[in-house]
Amino acid sequence: MGQDNLSTQKRTTSTTLPTTTATATNRSRGGVLPRGRQIHKTFNNIKITILCGFVTILVLRGTIGVNLGSSDADAVNQNLVEETNRILAEIRSDADPNDPDEETFFNPNITFTLGPKIKNWDQERKTWLDQNPEYPNFIKGKPRILLLTGSPPKPCDNPIGDHYLLKSIKNKIDYCRLHNIEIVYNLAHLDKELAGYWAKLPMIRRLMLSHPEIEWIWWMDSDALFTDMVFELPLSKYDEYNLVLHGYPDLLFEQKSWIAVNTGSFLFRNCQWSLDLLDVWAPMGPKGPVREEAGKILTANLKGRPAFEADDQSALIYLLLSQKKQWMGKVFLENSFYLHGYWAGLVDRYEEMIEKYHPGLGDERWPFVTHFVGCKPCGSYGDYPVERCLSSMERAFNFADNQVLKLYGFRHRGLLSPKIKRIRNETVTPLEIVDQFDIRRHPSENTGSKS
Ligand code: UDP
Ligand code: MN
Repeated sequence: MGQDNLSTQKRTTSTTLPTTTATATNRSRGGVLPRGRQIHKTFNNIKITILCGFVTILVLRGTIGVNLGSSDADAVNQNLVEETNRILAEIRSDADPNDPDEETFFNPNITFTLGPKIKNWDQERKTWLDQNPEYPNFIKGKPRILLLTGSPPKPCDNPIGDHYLLKSIKNKIDYCRLHNIEIVYNLAHLDKELAGYWAKLPMIRRLMLSHPEIEWIWWMDSDALFTDMVFELPLSKYDEYNLVLHGYPDLLFEQKSWIAVNTGSFLFRNCQWSLDLLDVWAPMGPKGPVREEAGKILTANLKGRPAFEADDQSALIYLLLSQKKQWMGKVFLENSFYLHGYWAGLVDRYEEMIEKYHPGLGDERWPFVTHFVGCKPCGSYGDYPVERCLSSMERAFNFADNQVLKLYGFRHRGLLSPKIKRIRNETVTPLEIVDQFDIRRHPSENTGSKS
C-alpha cells in the first residue's frame, strides 16, 4: 500500500513536466498577430522560467536538503509513513513465496525435530572446553549464565506494548549487568513451525550448541520482570540438576495441574540431557493441526486447563507426568523463592514490602521475579483488562528500578510514575556512596531499598 502511494505521487510529478511544455509549444504554433505573438512569447518565457525555477528547487531539495517549510515537512512525514508501512508490511508478510524452504506440509507420520539428533554433546563440549581455556564455563567458581529472552518479530498490536517490551529488557539488562550474567534478546522464529511461545525451544538449543562455554541458559519471558535486583540464584543447590523450574510437586503429581510449573522463567544446564529433553518436548509445538490436536490431549489430561492449542508449559508438564522416571531425577522444582512469581498476588503489596522488608529475600516478602501471566501486553487478547495489566507492570518496573536508581541517588516519585526525584545531595566524596550502595559488592547485605 505504501509503495502504491509513492509511485502514484511520482507519476503525477513526471507527467506534469511534458504536458506543460507541450501545451506551451502547441500554443506558439497557433496563427496569432505579431504583437499578440510577442505577448504570448513573453508569457511562455515566464512560464518556462517558473518551470525551471521549480525544477531547480526540486533538485536542490534532493541534493542539499533545502528546507521549504511546512509543505516540505508534510512530504517528509508522508515518506516516513510510507516507509514505515512498507517495513511493517514486510515484517507481517509471513513468507517469501520464492523460498521453497518456507513451504510447510502437514505429515502426521513424521515427528517434528529441532534438528539433527546430537548424541555425544557432553563429551564434545568437554573436549571443546579443554581446548579453549580462554572460554571457561566457570568463572571464579561461578557457573557462566546466559539469560535469554525475546518477543515476536513484529511490532506489538498496540504501541504501548512495545514500550513495555523496552522497559522489560531494560529491567533485565540492569539485573544482568549487576550480576555478571550475559543476555541475549531473540526476535526471530528460528523455526517457523515453532512460532509464538514455542519459539524459546529452538533458540535455547541453538544457544547451547553455539556457546559451549555457557553452563546455564536461563529463559525469561518478556512479560516477566526482575523485582528483586539484589537476590541471586542459589546455584550450588542445583549442582546435581539440569532443569530448574518454579513449581510444586503436589500440584504436579497429585493434582496434575496445568499450572504446577511455570515456563516463564527457568534454567537449563548446557548438556546432553537438556538436548534430549528439548527433543521430546518440541513435537507438540508445530503450529497448525499438530498443535491443535496436541492441545486436546493436554486439556483432557491436565487439571484446570482450558481448551486451546498446545502450549509449551502444558506440554512440559504432560511430559514430566508421563515420563516421570526418565526426567524427574534431574529436575529441581524450586518454590523457596519466586523464580516465577504470579503478578496478581504481588503487585498490590509492593508498598507493604517496602515498609516491612528489603531486597535480597526473593520470596513473598520481596519477590525475585514478577511475571505478568495472561496479560499479553504485546498482543490484543489478554485474560485481564489491559489497563490493570499496564498499571501493574508500571508499578513492578518502578519498584525494581528504584533499587537500581538508588546507587545513583534517585528514585521514582511514586510506583506509578516514570518521573524520578533526587534522594541524596551530590557529594564531593562519591566513593563512599559506592561502598554503601553498590549491589555488586555486597548483594546479601544490601538492605537499603526502604524509602
Ligand atoms: N515469545 C517470543 N516470540 C514470540 C511470541 C512469544 O519469544 O513470537 C516469548 C515472549 O517472551 C513471551 C513468551 O514467549 O513473553 C511467552 O508468552 P506469554 O508471556 O505471552 O505467555 P504467558 O506467560 O502469558 O502464558
Ligand atoms: Mn509470560
